[in-house]
Amino acid sequence: MSRGKSFKGTATKRIEMRRCVACRQVRHKSELLRVVKTAAGEISIDNAKKIFGRGAYVCKSATCAANLKKRHGLDKIFKTKLPSELYEKICAAIDNA
Ligand SMILES: [Zn+2]
Repeated sequence: MSRGKSFKGTATKRIEMRRCVACRQVRHKSELLRVVKTAAGEISIDNAKKIFGRGAYVCKSATCAANLKKRHGLDKIFKTKLPSELYEKICAAIDNA
């Protein structure tokens, strides 16, 4: 006889906090821009936060965008060399956010 208790469906509090890759501050997802590397190896800005893949987050702040671009901060995370134009795109996306 198994007497294992299971707590299915108990309240799971999901706090959607993520760390910015530029300033390393933890912020709420809504304050961050998600950049994702898809299974196909493509890097794109995930505005809807729905693309499946390895994600990285950066604050929607011009300072963080500039730092990220300057240091190519995503190259290490995604283990690939990202083109400068992608960083430009991220900056533009943050400017428009
Ligand atoms: Zn930041």
